[in-house]
Amino acid sequence: MIGDNYLEVQKNIDDACKAVGRDRSEVTLIAVSKTKPISELMEAYEAGARDFGENYVQELVDKIPQMPSDVRWHMIGHLQRNKVKYIVGKVSLIHSVDSLRLAEEISKESVKQGVVSDILLEVNVAGEESKWGGSLEETIELVKTAAKLPNIKINGLMTVAPYVDDSEENRQVFVKLKKLSVDINEQSIDNVIMNTLSMGMTGDYMVAAQEGATLLRVGTGIFGARNYNK
Ligand SMILES: *Cc1c(COP(=O)(O)O)cnc(C)c1O
Repeated sequence: MIGDNYLEVQKNIDDACKAVGRDRSEVTLIAVSKTKPISELMEAYEAGARDFGENYVQELVDKIPQMPSDVRWHMIGHLQRNKVKYIVGKVSLIHSVDSLRLAEEISKESVKQGVVSDILLEVNVAGEESKWGGSLEETIELVKTAAKLPNIKINGLMTVAPYVDDSEENRQVFVKLKKLSVDINEQSIDNVIMNTLSMGMTGDYMVAAQEGATLLRVGTGIFGARNYNK
């Protein structure tokens, strides 16, 4: 069932790209597997999934050695500075960098390990009280300062759009994030090329794909509902 879900989401992404004349190869589906057991991740893997997203450091660190080594891991959840050392060098991309202090910690740990960490900056586009990430203006300032730090590379932006009943309501959120990335690119900041946009979840990934997402983070649509009480 999980394999079929995965293929169906992929097919929906094909359709969304076709609808707007977008090159399908620009868009990667991340299977968001938080709270799900390895057996279920493997079902998605067997259907072709190679990009997996996790929210919690401990769970991520536990799962990495249990999955095939060609999996690309994405840290998508809020990251505390004291946990940075556990994931640097192990994940392909950290999506959820929302402060200079966190960027500094990732930089410091990356220098220590002799690696370069790819990161995205998290933006709270809709200005929701309950969400992480900076405002559009704060993000421009954060890019400029964080770009000077050694051993990190800012690849783009990420947002968690509001929970809405009709995915069309989030179209403007995605348009705004895309525009911010274009505006930042036009400033030609050293060490910054914004070509990655992580946006769109189960409820709205097709709209996000139409509006320029390069990474879609889909959990429920692949693995079914999460049970946090297990
Ligand atoms: C859990 C989570 C997702 C996946 O959400 P679904 O609605 O289940 O697709 C995507 N992004 C982030 C940051 C998440 O925490």
